[in-house]
Amino acid sequence: MARVRVESLRKEYDVGTVVAVDGLDLEIGDGEFVTVVGPSGCGKTTTLRMLAGLEEPTSGRIEIGDEDVTDVHAKNRDVAMVFQNYALYPHKTVFENMAFGLRMSTDLDAEEREQRVVETAEMMDIAELLEDKPDELSGGQKQRVALGRAIVREPDLFLFDEPLSNLDAKLRTTMRAEIQRLQDELGITSVYVTHDQHEAMTMGDRIVILSDGELQQQGAPTDVYENPTNKFVGGFIGSPSMNFIDVSVEQVAGGLRLDDSDGNFSFTLSAAYATANDAALGRGRYTLGIRPESISIADSQSQNAISAGVDVVEPVGSDNFLHLDIGPEFIARVPSDVTLEAGDEITITFDESDIHLFDADSGVEVL
Ligand code: ATP
Repeated sequence: MARVRVESLRKEYDVGTVVAVDGLDLEIGDGEFVTVVGPSGCGKTTTLRMLAGLEEPTSGRIEIGDEDVTDVHAKNRDVAMVFQNYALYPHKTVFENMAFGLRMSTDLDAEEREQRVVETAEMMDIAELLEDKPDELSGGQKQRVALGRAIVREPDLFLFDEPLSNLDAKLRTTMRAEIQRLQDELGITSVYVTHDQHEAMTMGDRIVILSDGELQQQGAPTDVYENPTNKFVGGFIGSPSMNFIDVSVEQVAGGLRLDDSDGNFSFTLSAAYATANDAALGRGRYTLGIRPESISIADSQSQNAISAGVDVVEPVGSDNFLHLDIGPEFIARVPSDVTLEAGDEITITFDESDIHLFDADSGVEVL
């Protein structure tokens, strides 16, 4: 059993002037693959290093399996970590790099160690590299060796710290699939840190989003995408980002009208929808969020039609991103066969069920 439980975990640096991790609670199930994502400096690496035992928590508790490991030294935790910079010993061969960790962490004899390394190298497709030194390898091969070195130990817990950041885009995609395949096969509980929300969404059974050392949300990737608990998560997950417009809310005959202050934007939520979703929205300021892919081009006569000028058309293959003059950074994603050019005036709309509303002050989602 290698479930992981983190309780009220906190890490301060520089005599408390920097709070890198601020009261984190997490539960990771046995065999689960959890991705941890957030902007630079949000505390991802510090969290991972505390799980590994490389950084001592200021307060809080870490359990791996059924053991409280908060005060257990890194070398006595059954954890393997894969780093962005591979961290291979340059003077050792691939074989020696892989066997070294085994010698330190298990009591296998030399023959058993050799057998385990060779088997793992075959599984990782690096058997022909066993006599090479790291500087004879490509970036992708080095990362494969680093993964092999972690796997050969058969740890209780895998920790990945942005392991693919140094690889080119194509290799990153291949290695992502490879890591997922290995994790599926081996069923080892894994925590994978990345700043790339796409990587976090595609790889994780569950995604954990941090900002400023605090947990913002955790859940299945699609749940987090569809139901962000606050504006930060709404804006961080999804590419291009969710569009935001500051609006005021007013009760009108047909339901609730949302207006921006410039008069560029007005949308009425039907009374039935507002009631069905328990939208207890008082008069006041909110931030409306709408994803680029939820926007469609509409007839100017249609309900909730919004006029917009096209500033830029950005073709990205199957789709075009239209930069519209409704807000400072407002993008609609439309199929590439919709032919438009900068300067065109269009009408857009979206479904009320695709709207997110956040409290303007706290950023908490209210609808
Ligand atoms: P990145 O994606 O840039 O690696 P991160 O989310 O992994 O960022 P951390 O490296 O965990 O973030 O850092 C969290 C905060 O703690 C940052 O403000 C960072 O400057 C600070 N920090 C990290 N390590 C130390 C240290 N050894 N001494 C002082 N402050 C530190």
